[in-house]
Amino acid sequence: MKKLIEGAVAFRQNDFETHEKLFFELGKEQNPHTLFIGCSDSRLVPGMITTTMPGELFIIRNVANLVPPFQHTGDYLATISAIEFAVQALEVENIVICGHSNCGGCAALFKPEAYFQKLPHTRKWLELALPVKEKVLQILPDGNHASREWLTEQMNVVEQIKHLLTYPYIAEKFEKGTLSISGWYYIIETGEIYCYNIEKGFFELIN
Ligand SMILES: [Zn+2]
Repeated sequence: MKKLIEGAVAFRQNDFETHEKLFFELGKEQNPHTLFIGCSDSRLVPGMITTTMPGELFIIRNVANLVPPFQHTGDYLATISAIEFAVQALEVENIVICGHSNCGGCAALFKPEAYFQKLPHTRKWLELALPVKEKVLQILPDGNHASREWLTEQMNVVEQIKHLLTYPYIAEKFEKGTLSISGWYYIIETGEIYCYNIEKGFFELIN
């Protein structure tokens, strides 16, 4: 905790001071251009990997960067309401779904039942990604651990793009061309980000 408290003081003395004018303006309103949906993983830092400033990204983070399919049931409200607010109220121009390498959430899809003994809510949440697991097992029924890992992480990003398009207001804006949707895959140890090319059906390095 000491590290965090010292960090809060250092922030005010350093970064805040450097960008004081920006923070003053942001004190009145936010006008983010992008909804960034990423994993909660501590190693994925959206502002850092996109070189953006406060006020630019509206961020949703959850285990395995999942988007629940559109529904009226009242389930998964935290994620669904944040998507709704970003698109309908803040009118963001872009949505980025960002998966990453070595994702614990994606790996958990293949864990035995005993693994979830203390993680009942994680287990329930990850049910949203079970179609991804099924697709991976069809392609790599007995693939090695490494190839299954990256395939799951990348297919998961593609699946979440499909889920986004089940939201009527997102599909409408996407078709009109007023909202872009991108699927990204971030590799922690190299800093590389790959973007899913919807037409070609594979991930390309952003350069
Ligand atoms: Zn993750």
